[in-house]
Amino acid sequence: MKFFVLTEPFRFEMKELPVPELKDDEILITIKKVGICGSEITAYRGVHKYRIPPVILGHEMAGAVSAIGRDVRRFKEGDRVVVKPHTFCGKCPNCLRGEQNICREKKVLGSREWPGAFGAFIVSPEYLVHALPDAVGNEEAALLDPLCVGLHAVRQARVQAGDRVAILGAGSIGLSTLLIARTAGAETYITDVKRTNLDIAKTLGATGAFNVAQEGEGPRLDQWAADLPLDAVFITAGVESEVPRALKMVGRGGRVVVIAHFHNPDISVDMFTLLTQEKRLQGSITYTGLDLDRGIHLLAQKAVDVRPLISERRNMGEIQSCFERLSAGEEGLIKILLTP
Ligand SMILES: [Zn+2]
Ligand SMILES: [Zn+2]
Repeated sequence: MKFFVLTEPFRFEMKELPVPELKDDEILITIKKVGICGSEITAYRGVHKYRIPPVILGHEMAGAVSAIGRDVRRFKEGDRVVVKPHTFCGKCPNCLRGEQNICREKKVLGSREWPGAFGAFIVSPEYLVHALPDAVGNEEAALLDPLCVGLHAVRQARVQAGDRVAILGAGSIGLSTLLIARTAGAETYITDVKRTNLDIAKTLGATGAFNVAQEGEGPRLDQWAADLPLDAVFITAGVESEVPRALKMVGRGGRVVVIAHFHNPDISVDMFTLLTQEKRLQGSITYTGLDLDRGIHLLAQKAVDVRPLISERRNMGEIQSCFERLSAGEEGLIKILLTP
């Protein structure tokens, strides 16, 4: 079976791998569609913490069950499924509080510990597999990963109907956050440096969009937020200066939610204002099984449409050139979906 292994930074190689013997609780899932995630671009450049070559990347997948272990009860061959791409123990204090996403036992799909979806199949324990209803197609399902990152972040910020929120960065996570904030009834504003991304944000229902690459737009954004403060600000692009900016933009009692990774995470913020105005600075990492179920439900109900995020559909054999173009930051590329 064909797999595309990142053998060293900037280089994929096609390898043939055998179908493995399944453990009793495992499921073999044939890959139908898989998206390329920003975290994988970091891995491609050789600077990701856990996704270290040689590695089979790929976690934004939709697939179908091909074989099941002896103890698997909830699934049968042919079932259409997605996988929550992070393991958890189910027993620690965080798991017991429903915070599976911050369990210490976390292993991620698309690492050396758990080979990913850039190939013919993956193997997953049953407890991480979620069924797809007929109403959710494979392409949309492959977008569930970024969608649920946005869903979790919006839940962290406790966004309510009528809230004014800003999203700094209009990549696939920023646009997903926008879609979910809209379903929560928020008025949404978004920033980016790419025109195409902002145009898509507007078609997805953003009330306003700021192109911060244009001269004068940064100060205009800050002034605009000062005139009418925001209830929540989401940081989805890893630009260090956005953290103090977001804390300034958010109003008294407002929430700043950090979803992005920063190259230099040691960032100084104005703690006096944070203290006296009860502003909250909150991290948001991946999502839980409950978030994933909610994401699937939103897609099935047609409450959100993720399809505008798909920029291109490619054969997995073209993976090398797809990564080269994404790594170069090509304008207009948001999500590329690969088919094995
Ligand atoms: Zn991802
Ligand atoms: Zn745990």
